[in-house]
Amino acid sequence: FIRPALWYAQRETLMDSTTATAELGWTVYPWEEVSGYDENMNTIRTYQVCNVFDNNQNNWVRTKYIRRRGAQRIHVEMKFSVRDCSSIPNVPGSCKETFNLYYYESDADTATRTSPAWMENPWIKVDTIAADESFSQVDLGGRVMKINTEVRSFGPVSRNGFYLAFQDYGGCMSLIAVRVFYRKCPRIITNGALFQETLSGAESTSLVAARGVCIPNAEEVDVPIKLYCNGDGEWMVPIGRCMCKAGNEAVENGTVCRACPSGFFKPTQKDEPCMQCPINSRTTSEGAMNCVCRNGYYRTDSDPLQMPCTTVPSAPQTVISSVNETSVMLEWMPPRDSGGREDVVFNIICKSCGGGRGGCTRCGDNVQFLPRQLGLTEPRVYISDLLAHTQYTFEVQAVNGVSDQSPYSPQYASVNITTNQAAPSTVSIMHQVSRTVDSITLSWSQPDQPNGVILDYELHYYEKDQSEYNATAIRSQTNTVVIRGLKPGSIYVFQVRARTVAGFGRYSGKLYFQTMTEEEYNTSIQEKLPLIIGSAAAGLVFLIAVVVIIIVCNRRRGFDRADSEYTDKLQHYTSGHMTPGMKIYIDPFTYEDPNEAVREFAKEIDISCVKIEQVIGAGEFGEVCSGNLRLPGKREMFVAIKTLKSGYTEKQRRDFLSEASIMGQFDHPNVIHLEGVVTKSSPVMIITEFMENGSLDSFLRQNDGQFTVIQLVGMLRGIASGMKYLADMNYVHRDLAARNILVNSNLVCKVSDFGLSRFLEDDTSDPTYTSALGGKIPIRWTAPEAIQYRKFTSASDVWSYGIVMWEVMSYGERPYWDMTNQDVINAIEQDYRLPPPMDCPSALHQLMLDCWQKDRNNRPKFSQIVNNLDKMIRNPNTLKAMTPLSSGVHLPLLDRSIPDFSSFSTVDEWLDAIKMGQYKDNFASADFSTFDVVSQMTMDDILRVGVTLAGHQKKILNSVQMMRAQMNQIQSVEV
Ligand code: AMP
Repeated sequence: FIRPALWYAQRETLMDSTTATAELGWTVYPWEEVSGYDENMNTIRTYQVCNVFDNNQNNWVRTKYIRRRGAQRIHVEMKFSVRDCSSIPNVPGSCKETFNLYYYESDADTATRTSPAWMENPWIKVDTIAADESFSQVDLGGRVMKINTEVRSFGPVSRNGFYLAFQDYGGCMSLIAVRVFYRKCPRIITNGALFQETLSGAESTSLVAARGVCIPNAEEVDVPIKLYCNGDGEWMVPIGRCMCKAGNEAVENGTVCRACPSGFFKPTQKDEPCMQCPINSRTTSEGAMNCVCRNGYYRTDSDPLQMPCTTVPSAPQTVISSVNETSVMLEWMPPRDSGGREDVVFNIICKSCGGGRGGCTRCGDNVQFLPRQLGLTEPRVYISDLLAHTQYTFEVQAVNGVSDQSPYSPQYASVNITTNQAAPSTVSIMHQVSRTVDSITLSWSQPDQPNGVILDYELHYYEKDQSEYNATAIRSQTNTVVIRGLKPGSIYVFQVRARTVAGFGRYSGKLYFQTMTEEEYNTSIQEKLPLIIGSAAAGLVFLIAVVVIIIVCNRRRGFDRADSEYTDKLQHYTSGHMTPGMKIYIDPFTYEDPNEAVREFAKEIDISCVKIEQVIGAGEFGEVCSGNLRLPGKREMFVAIKTLKSGYTEKQRRDFLSEASIMGQFDHPNVIHLEGVVTKSSPVMIITEFMENGSLDSFLRQNDGQFTVIQLVGMLRGIASGMKYLADMNYVHRDLAARNILVNSNLVCKVSDFGLSRFLEDDTSDPTYTSALGGKIPIRWTAPEAIQYRKFTSASDVWSYGIVMWEVMSYGERPYWDMTNQDVINAIEQDYRLPPPMDCPSALHQLMLDCWQKDRNNRPKFSQIVNNLDKMIRNPNTLKAMTPLSSGVHLPLLDRSIPDFSSFSTVDEWLDAIKMGQYKDNFASADFSTFDVVSQMTMDDILRVGVTLAGHQKKILNSVQMMRAQMNQIQSVEV
């Protein structure tokens, strides 16, 4: 682009005749130097000539030597007057009204009177100059003068200097003033750059390029900055530009880049002024490119720097919940303060809690959130698949784009809800285990949401060609059932549903299975002859099989391989209880090579399928971790990984893996499930299903007082059911205790810890296990006959189960508190038994006492315990009675945490002792002033005297009950 000339040119004078104060002293040939006046009547030195009456005039006047001073083009301004020829009387025709201008270049002042010669060559003619105006009257006084001004220029000149000459050839004129100059473009600052003074070029059309230098704190944009100086000394054609750097702005007409003052910033190199810091931000120094946010205010990476700094939102307001069975709809109002941002979203934190004391635990993965749990844009969420009859706390967090920069956790509003009872969800997977001509064995998985303890399943089936109305329904307490009495080669339709105290869930989808035809059966029987002994018929044939197994098991060591294979297979189809289809447990140590047992019962998993995430505990042989297991073709699952620490002995490896060989033989919803083992790489691992809530004892201690009695009984029922299964498999646990029960996120309890080594090793570091002759024993949990003469049976497991019941009902209290092991043994020997824990229904305490029968034959079987608990769950009224005493041979040990009332003489002293002294006046004014009346107090009475805090009510009620029990004991002793 070309713009008109931008800046005024500057002239640089090389010579000015008007400034001469004395004679000019030019060389004349033969002009005459005279003094005169200029138009302002200033005295000046002039040259004149007037030889009009003579022919062939050639009159010259030559200036002194003029130095060029770098100029390439010279301009000459001449002021002169010329006499009008026609005004001169009798003037000849040769009279002229013009003169010629010449120049002569020379490197030095070498001219003389005769050289250069007074003729056109060697001089160079610039032009013939004519007057615009001439005057007709000679006025030597100069009073009436008409002065012409003409400017001529020439170039290029290259020598050090030059002379000018004026040639008159027959005129009458006066050369009043001569000024010689050149033009230059001035030093300027423009477009953010400084351009030094630049002389014009040699021709009037020349453009001399000049590079600019950016002013301090400015930078060139794109191309190098340039200007052109033209022949008239004017700058033209700017190219490129410099702009003030970020943090600097152009001031003083763009000639200075100044740092932004404090409180102002400029983010880029643009040609813009500094901007004021946005709200909630400030500068830390002058020349800021951005403003930093004030404490507690933030910016995201994508927030423009001009945007005010923002902060985290306040909590959402008024969360409203509407519960529907095991789902809840939450709605809330957006936070009052969005923190100044538009990107507020909501996260839901789900915790399942009990009422009153203690903490909450995070909900498991199975809870569903619609549309999602995190990043909700609308103020509502639908949450489903919660546990039935459970208290939850939901925290609705408000977060925005800067929440993760805040050191504080997001603000939230919370709401507590309790879900209702709900039937179990549908059983989704059912498969055929085996079939014969007249029977089909089916198995199915537990519903994803049991919503409580599953009491049993109902299987409904009919022949495909028959009407559904003729269907048969059978009940099963496990998720496996053998359907007998079917027709050979017929297709049957099956559906199953689960039942809890809330009733039946919905039926599963229909599945079709077919019995064998006679021909199929005959072929299979020939192939599998040894296997059918157990399953084809009960009775005599089966008995023989059992005998075979017992012999085989006892003589295991020393058997050759052929025998071993034969007997292993047999065991899969036989059972100690002679129920066809039931397996019995095989002690891995009866194998000659225990590795063989691992191969037999535990699936080998490739380490590449296992991803360890974090360490969650310490096992006996190494760390216990959580992680993920992805088996080919299966969904990734969360698992627990027990590792064997390096540097193990062969014996330790065997003992470690023995747990897997045992666990791998079990398949029951209340027994921890083995996924497999890693033995081909290091470290050796045992991988089991993951139990989110860890071991039962610590889980209960963390959630003290937070479950309903029904929930606690549900857990006990699960443990009893797992133990029934183990007892049916002829497995004796020997270490049943709450610490060895694991709890998952659905509160399902599973029996675990099948390691045997604990009993075998002579390591007394864990005081729970006391060394006894031939091994260590957990005294407080162990039946007397097992302590005394190592008689471990399922009946001794039942004793331990009674202790687990007590642990559960007391939320993880230590059995027999701080009594010594020897005191415990003595107390048991003298028929003392643990008293009912606080709030324990008497029916449950009675069941505990039954488990603690001295004669193991009088103890209930696990199947009876399961039935008993099921009855309680079905009829919760049976759990209402809380009388802590049962009269009979067993005298409960007194709860040592509650002082014996008989050591006090007044009710006031007793209240002080139980730390309830603040209610003395309440008791007195309501006339509860003797132990007799106090011992008869009910909950209503306690409320009536004005005890409103639930914890205090419990404490007093419990102490009253204890008082009653102590009174009864005193009476029975007296009797
Ligand atoms: P153990 O060696 O079986 O006593 O395990 C040590 C600890 O690891 C236990 O007390 C639990 O806290 C934890 N743990 C073991 N197995 C699991 C599992 N399947 N799921 C979750 N935690 C487990």
